[in-house]
Amino acid sequence: MATTTQADSTQANLAQTGWNELAKKVLDGHILTVEEGESILQCPDSELLPLLDASYQIRKHYFGKQVQLYYLKNAKSGLCAEDCHYCSQSKISDAPIEKYSLLSEEKLMEGARKAASSQARTYCIVSSGRGPSDKDVEHLAGVVKNIKQELGLHICCCLGLLNNEQATVLKKAGVDRINHNLNTSRRFHEEICTTHTFDDRLNTLNVAKEAGLELCVGLIVGMGENNADVVEVALQLRQLEVESIPVNFLNSVDGTPLEKLENLTPSYCLKTLCLFRFANPSTEIRIAGGREVNIRSMQCMGLYPANSIFVSDYLTTRGQAAQLDFEMIEDMGFEIVSSDHEAAKLLQKHGMDKLNNSLEISEQCNTGGSCGNSC
Ligand code: SF4
Repeated sequence: MATTTQADSTQANLAQTGWNELAKKVLDGHILTVEEGESILQCPDSELLPLLDASYQIRKHYFGKQVQLYYLKNAKSGLCAEDCHYCSQSKISDAPIEKYSLLSEEKLMEGARKAASSQARTYCIVSSGRGPSDKDVEHLAGVVKNIKQELGLHICCCLGLLNNEQATVLKKAGVDRINHNLNTSRRFHEEICTTHTFDDRLNTLNVAKEAGLELCVGLIVGMGENNADVVEVALQLRQLEVESIPVNFLNSVDGTPLEKLENLTPSYCLKTLCLFRFANPSTEIRIAGGREVNIRSMQCMGLYPANSIFVSDYLTTRGQAAQLDFEMIEDMGFEIVSSDHEAAKLLQKHGMDKLNNSLEISEQCNTGGSCGNSC
């Protein structure tokens, strides 16, 4: 772990040589050091624009102007016996969220069609709980086969802890990717959850990888961790060679143990996204839960380091209207990655529905909830 002095001296060097020089080194294969990572998070606000510009040089190299859209469906809500402190669905949360068991095939197909008509390329099926039952996995496997056949969407499942057999069933059904977040550093994990361990999480990632599934693994920033924790996760994700990194910013919800935590600023959130880009240059990085409430009017700048966002709502909180996201992407001169063939056809067919849906201005959900974050 870097000392403050080391990070300060690296900071002074970077101020001299510039963030662009560091971006060039990264593009030449340099692996970000802990000191450089901490310097990014400590970057003075007056250097934020040069930092964003340097991050954009890396993003542009690997992803050009493309933006990938993801659409989330909360397939099972609440009723969870785990105690993740950030989560409105946990057993220790009093947040008045909607609670329901695993959705029917019809409801999940409906969500998939909405994902396609929202120009999302990936449909994320998320279920609350420590892990799915074999019956849940069987049900989801059947649904995924049908979604693949009808829409050809990429499918990411976030179902909690998995065993080998379950991962294999999901892979065979056509699931492309598993989301299972580290959430925070190993050191800080026990401060935010006591019912499962950091190693439980790593084990599920191994199980998914062995089954041939891609990995979507991220974190939640703003839970009381320090800069070193955030840097540690950024560097660990590089080692794990994950395909996609959702960077969540805590949307603290009344009724959860973290309800009083509101310590993020838009500029710190942007620096975090830059850190992840420098540490994981060629990996898809998504501005995930808490984007609207934490980055606020500066959201569009997050697209310089990041190349992906969720469109529409999160698990238990509303996102901004899809139309505003489309406008933000277009205004920035970026392009949404075109949907797969079948999804594009559906979009044409339901063009009017899409327009109507996206023009609905989402309201902040009064039930709260921040488990767009993880399972
Ligand atoms: S994050 Fe997932 S496992 Fe943790 S409390 Fe929420 S629903 Fe349960």
